[in-house]
Amino acid sequence: MQPRYITIHSTQNFSRGADALRHSEALRNGKLRARKIRGFNRIGYLVWHFTVDEDRAVQHLPTNEQGEHADFGGPGNRYSIGVEMCENKGNSRSATIERTAKLTAYLMQKHKISLRKVVPHYHWKRRGLSQPHKNCPHYLLDNGRPGAKWEWFLAKVNKYYQSIGGSNPLPVGPSINSYGQIVNAPAIPYPTAERSYQPPSKRYHTVKKGDTLSALSRRYDVSVSSIQRANGLRSSVIVLGKKLRIPNS
Ligand SMILES: [Zn+2]
Repeated sequence: MQPRYITIHSTQNFSRGADALRHSEALRNGKLRARKIRGFNRIGYLVWHFTVDEDRAVQHLPTNEQGEHADFGGPGNRYSIGVEMCENKGNSRSATIERTAKLTAYLMQKHKISLRKVVPHYHWKRRGLSQPHKNCPHYLLDNGRPGAKWEWFLAKVNKYYQSIGGSNPLPVGPSINSYGQIVNAPAIPYPTAERSYQPPSKRYHTVKKGDTLSALSRRYDVSVSSIQRANGLRSSVIVLGKKLRIPNS
């Protein structure tokens, strides 16, 4: 993964002792399982890059590896560093926020990520869920959406970012270093995730007795002709037991 965003979460794990080290052990021991489903979870586990509590930030995954923490096959997982803030009993929320802001500033500097690409988990649309935008991190959102509290957090991140030299303008264009390599090439243009992102279809349907193309069209909310196109069907006949690819649109 080439990180372009930083996604902030909170664990919503309120048990005593559920601090950064405990989460680290859980991840290492494969305790955080998720159902592995095509188009949803790729690996059968949840994993992210850093967990922060009042005392420490623990890294679980290299920042050039993709996590499973935001939006299944979406850009939040494919392009962002995932940071979880602990919420265990007795852990200071303000110290955790402070430390998370520092870590975020460091990651911005290290990976040349701008402040507007520091986003709450809420930012990423989770396709296929009834509540696509998660109320996460809940205590930095207002009524479940980014508002004054999130701005307050970003201001804190920016303060740390400036304090480590982040005020220097980020390089804008490509240049060639003394080894003849192109550096600071502009990032690959990346569409606004919410509207334009179209993951490749990973949905399938195995034809059962009674299925018709028009019923499948209604069920998956795609047109009959696009199902036909995706499967090379020349008529509306579908064969029992055949696995059909269901396109996204
Ligand atoms: Zn989250």
